[in-house]
Amino acid sequence: MPIDSGAYAALTLEGAAAGIAANAFTPADLLRAALERIERFDPVCNAMITVDREGAGRAAEAPPPEGVSLLAGVPLAVKDNIMTRGLRSTCGSRILDDFIPPYDAGVVERLRAAGSVVVGKANMDEFAMGSTGENSAYGPARNPWNPRLATGGSSSGSAAVVAYGGVPAALGSDTGGSIRQPAAFCGLVGMKPTYGRVSRWGLGALASSLDQIGPLTRTVRDNALLYDAIAGHDERDSTSANRPLLPCLPAVEDGVKGLRIGYDPSLFDKEGMAKPQSDGVRRAIGILRDEGAVVAETTLPLIDYGVAAYYIICSCEASANLTRYDGVRYGVRRGAADLWETLSATRGSGFGDEVKRRIMMGAYALSSGYYDAYYLKAAKVRRLLAEAYRKAWNAVDALLLPVTPRSPPPVGREATALENYLGDVFTLPANLAGIPALSFPASEADGLPVGVQAMGAHFREDVLYRIARAVEKSVKLADPPWTRPNPEGGR
Ligand code: GLN
Repeated sequence: MPIDSGAYAALTLEGAAAGIAANAFTPADLLRAALERIERFDPVCNAMITVDREGAGRAAEAPPPEGVSLLAGVPLAVKDNIMTRGLRSTCGSRILDDFIPPYDAGVVERLRAAGSVVVGKANMDEFAMGSTGENSAYGPARNPWNPRLATGGSSSGSAAVVAYGGVPAALGSDTGGSIRQPAAFCGLVGMKPTYGRVSRWGLGALASSLDQIGPLTRTVRDNALLYDAIAGHDERDSTSANRPLLPCLPAVEDGVKGLRIGYDPSLFDKEGMAKPQSDGVRRAIGILRDEGAVVAETTLPLIDYGVAAYYIICSCEASANLTRYDGVRYGVRRGAADLWETLSATRGSGFGDEVKRRIMMGAYALSSGYYDAYYLKAAKVRRLLAEAYRKAWNAVDALLLPVTPRSPPPVGREATALENYLGDVFTLPANLAGIPALSFPASEADGLPVGVQAMGAHFREDVLYRIARAVEKSVKLADPPWTRPNPEGGR
């Protein structure tokens, strides 16, 4: 066989494209190796809800698209809330257990036009609500670095399948941190693009004013490559930005000389902040300073108000978005005596606990008498926060901060919803402000990767990639799972 599954597992997107161009292997060889790797690791990591052998096989045999495409013939995975024509898309929920979309999401159309081979649909927290991956109706995904630990969520399977070497890249979605947090916990690079930069046509909505789709990869260059492929205007998404696209891959190696980067030292002493996470930021700052960036202390605006504002806004929007799952328009119907009983049986058995909690919180916060006290107040906080970030870009080009206050928790630990919500404190400001944010590995502690995060001004993803690339050059993760022969080998 021209490539065995071990060599395949360590391939980057760029490496795969180069190998195909040099005739070292074919797309069908890559797919065979991908499926073998998935077969070996997925029983442990539970990264995939659906593997599409047939569809992927057809795509791998199809003639490549005209022109140059670095994605042509390369296997990818897609989070299960991103619609794929003729291929089950569950959003991680029982209520969509048998849902087969009649159309492709905008990002999937782009991937297919570029010749990618979609291998299957990745596990996720139900309707993207969660930060550990444990809220999936299809069981928790497990972290390939250590399967006793969570991958982070909600793009849990997208991160796990890339980290164990099933595919070189995957798409996730991020409403409050769901790409960046699993990327950090699994040693990957994860981009939450600017609101409006990537089409959400065909994304199962959690909170429409916050959701974005973005790439998870093992390298910064791969991430920029995939971002360039999915970004751009789509008139079917009314929030899609119609402005020129600046490709990021050509800028990745530009370095950070003269870039102004701010960080907030008070975060290091914040309650609940773990040492590996603050050390990661310190280390990245040191590297960036050595590379010529102008690093300065600053204050991160309104950090203490983000969690409350986010969980009110997100739940309000979710409760409205989820009304369509009633067993009539969408959803596995549980028939009963009359309409109300049918609705209640359908939604009662189709939704999991966290989804029900959000629907109740959202409906409460929107109800007459409480609207002003909760939703409106949260919307005002969001406005202030967005303005504070807009002002921050007068003084700095980017902010550097932790991705999470903690390391990946064990799967199945007892935690309250609030404890999980507080873990999003550093990621959700980017969604509230609509700005891009990139999570990337900065160090390793106790055999686990530690991620840091860069945030920047609207539509300046290029700056974030330059920062991450400068750090990546100095950081080598020891023995990552995609280099290991066995699911639990190497540690
Ligand atoms: N953890 C956050 C939530 O549960 C973020 C989820 C996401 O980004 N999709 O809402």
